[in-house]
Order: sequence, then C-alpha cells, then structure tokens
Amino acid sequence: MARTTNKTFTMIKPDAVCNGHTGAILNDIIAGGFKLVAMKYIRLTRETAGAFYAVHKERPFYGELVDFMTSGPIVAAILEKENAVEEFRKLIGATDPAKAEPGTIRNKYAKSIEANAVHGSDSDENAEIEGSFFFSEFERF
Ligand code: ADP
Ligand code: MG
Repeated sequence: MARTTNKTFTMIKPDAVCNGHTGAILNDIIAGGFKLVAMKYIRLTRETAGAFYAVHKERPFYGELVDFMTSGPIVAAILEKENAVEEFRKLIGATDPAKAEPGTIRNKYAKSIEANAVHGSDSDENAEIEGSFFFSEFERF
C-alpha cells in the first residue's frame, strides 16, 4: 500500500467547537504551516464515533469517549505539511492538556484529558485510514 508521509487527519472536537474555538484553532493550524486538503463540519453518530475509536474499545473510557464525541458537531480535516503526523502532534501537545506544552492547541483550548479540543493521527498509516474514513477522493484538494 502506498504510504504518504506528508498528510495527517484531525478533528476539532465537540468541546472546542461548542466553546467557539473553531476559528482560532484553524488559524493556529494554518499559521503552523499546514495546508487544508479537505474539511467538513459534521456530527458523528454513535456508529461512526464507535468505529473511529474502535482501537480504544477495551479501554475503560471508551463509552464516555463515544458519548463525548457525539455530543455536538465537529470539524474533520485532512492536513498537509512535510512530516505532518509528527509536526501536528507537536502543535497540539500531550493528550492531557495539563501536560501539554504552553502554546500548544490543547494547552490553550482544552479542558480535560477527554475533552481535549483536537484529534491528531498517530502514524502515517492511521492518517490515511482516518482521512479515507471521512473523505472520498473527490473531496480532497
Ligand atoms: P491522543 O488523542 O492524544 O492520540 P489517545 O489515542 O490515547 O490520545 O486517546 C484517544 C482519545 O481518548 C483522547 O484524545 C481523549 O479524548 C480520550 N482519552 C484518552 N485517555 C483518556 C482517559 N484516561 N480518560 C478519558 N478519556 C481519555
Ligand atoms: Mg490517538
């Protein structure tokens, strides 16, 4: 399978959208040198959220994570930059916002380890899987 090294997938999660941080987060992403390849504003169903986070099915927070991710609309996007996966994880900071470096998106906009403002893919392979889960070929630019 072809591997891309310059793309990642993100979601602005329901907490950040609800709290009015969508514009500021998109601005930070673009200022961070990422190009928008695809973007949509949607609300996940229990089925789609459950499938997206299926890798965490056995973890104790899975049910609450699905509740949270379906609690309101999200922004899903594919982003492009050299070394995108690693660069984007740096831009968003640690999963727990209390541990995220100052200036990172989670440090600035997240409230808790669960409601942590944004998703970022953890590998090139998952970036491709996650991007394809949300976007068809003719929705990417
Ligand atoms: P990341 O989003 O940084 O890659 P994980 O893949 O480990 O983190 O977890 C996926 C998502 O599950 C997190 O972004 C967060 O919303 C939620 N989560 C992770 N750990 C916990 C936890 N201990 N309690 C509640 N929710 C959690
Ligand atoms: Mg993860």
